[in-house]
Amino acid sequence: MAQATKMGADSATLEARRRMGTGHTCIRCGSEITQGELLMVRVVAMETNGRPRNRKVPYHRKCYGLL
Ligand SMILES: [Zn+2]
Repeated sequence: MAQATKMGADSATLEARRRMGTGHTCIRCGSEITQGELLMVRVVAMETNGRPRNRKVPYHRKCYGLL
């Protein structure tokens, strides 16, 4: 009858974790991004000296067009 469960955290804990702030601000809408919504997009930008430079830009998933 007893069923072993391998879930490490209950859903309330996971939900709370998802709502935690990441400290990132969405480049598109300008509001803070929570753990569950964070999407880091890697972009290559040219610097003024002509050298390409990778950087990561934070988006909400929904702001980037992902649902
Ligand atoms: Zn956004």
